[in-house]
Amino acid sequence: MPEQLPNFIAGQWQHSTAADTLAVDDPATAETLAEVPLSSTTEVDTAVQRATEALVDWRRTPVTERVQPLYRLKQLLAEEHEELARILTTECGKTLAESRGEIQRGIENVEVACGMPSLIQGYNNEDIARGIDEMMIRQPVGVVAAITPFNFPGMIPLWFLPYAIACGNTFILKPSEKVPLTMQRLFELIAKTGLPPGVAQLVHGAKATVEAILDHPGIRAVSFVGSSTVAAAVYRRAAANGKRVQCQGGAKNPIVVLPDADLEQAIPMIAESAFGCAGQRCLAASLAITVGDNREAFTEAIVDAASSRRVGHGLDDGTEMGPVITGESKARIEGLIDQGLRDGGRLLVDGRDARIASYEQGNFLRPTVLDNLAADSTVATTEVFGPVLSVSHAATIDEAIAIVNRRAFGNMACLFTGSGAAARQFRYEVEAGNIGINIGVAAPMAFFPFSGWKQSFFGDLHGQGRDAVQFYTEEKVVVERWG
Ligand code: NAD
Repeated sequence: MPEQLPNFIAGQWQHSTAADTLAVDDPATAETLAEVPLSSTTEVDTAVQRATEALVDWRRTPVTERVQPLYRLKQLLAEEHEELARILTTECGKTLAESRGEIQRGIENVEVACGMPSLIQGYNNEDIARGIDEMMIRQPVGVVAAITPFNFPGMIPLWFLPYAIACGNTFILKPSEKVPLTMQRLFELIAKTGLPPGVAQLVHGAKATVEAILDHPGIRAVSFVGSSTVAAAVYRRAAANGKRVQCQGGAKNPIVVLPDADLEQAIPMIAESAFGCAGQRCLAASLAITVGDNREAFTEAIVDAASSRRVGHGLDDGTEMGPVITGESKARIEGLIDQGLRDGGRLLVDGRDARIASYEQGNFLRPTVLDNLAADSTVATTEVFGPVLSVSHAATIDEAIAIVNRRAFGNMACLFTGSGAAARQFRYEVEAGNIGINIGVAAPMAFFPFSGWKQSFFGDLHGQGRDAVQFYTEEKVVVERWG
């Protein structure tokens, strides 16, 4: 029998009393790796109570001491990097190289949060009137929670956990029920860092567990990353319950290729953006817009790149693309490709119904390229979240920018060009939070905000960097007169 995963509450591994569990399956083999409990409202309540108790001392712990467990965590993550990457690939499907990169991105967030003694500083003015001083100090918000998606099980929880606890909050994580094993291992490492019990807790579950978090009066702030429909619902419910909330949602990322782009350099980057992580990145390019007369050269080169990508089990040497997360995802993506054909698209590379020797049970697709789709058709506007690139064409950069800005999402937009003036126009006019110029995956480093716009983000302060410090602290202004 696969193991039922325990929760990590008050510094102890605790068997969940949940009535229901879900299977966690390897997406490449369909082997069941573990059972994840759908923790109850009572279990969420217990975690909140322990977090509330731990908060009393943790918020009084000097920030220089609060970051010490994070230095130890960084060291443990570096030592366990390879093992974590293997767990991640096994539950999520991405290649080992992609998993290694993901863990590295997670570590970088821990490193940035170790700078909290400087990051959390406020500011002050002496003599705002004679003999009166004024200061702004940052204090922790309280008990906070994060709810994370399946596609970056090692990195996305670390957009939140290190900043939250370094700011003096206590923290509860509800990871994706599809990929809970990487965080299971990470919390085993957290247990070795000397972090006091109750400061960081792990509660498994799905929708009902999330709702228990959103409704709990003891939780002051909620961070969410996932699809836009759920992000919007989580935002509304948490806000209606008086919580501070930040919700990062889905995406449909366009890449514009101008006639003066260096295609030799651009194509590998665009192919990596569209097909890397099997297209299951919120920063995946899924709509390429060629401008002017480079249409033929671009489509020819992207077809080559798509058809030569090696698909297989992420742990096998030479694999360049793994499976998608579930059979339902595969069916949904194939359905969208069919829709593209009905809408007049021309299939240049058909990745449907891929069969990979030795992994017949896996959820495999191959890279797919759909040409000739109207820029406002279903596939060109819907988040596919699979290895499908649709290609549209525009006569001018102005027309391409207008197409980009008609997207409901605003997570990322990229431009490939040799022109500084075109790059500036794009950066200036495009309505998206993360912009790439001659970059295929414009993923912000940990010391910058992960800045989605429009339907890709609900809230005001984003994850990572200085935004995270603001999100996880209350500002208190003090006006003082002495003698
Ligand atoms: P999802 O919305 O299905 O699930 C995300 C989390 O919400 C999970 O923990 C899940 O248990 C919970 N959840 C699911 N349905 C719920 C409901 N009805 N009520 C309450 N909670 C619910 O997302 P996913 O499929 O795990 O992840 C893929 C999505 O995440 C894509 O849309 C992708 O673009 C997005 N994403 C966005 C970013 C970003 O930074 N903007 C980053 C990564 C992923």
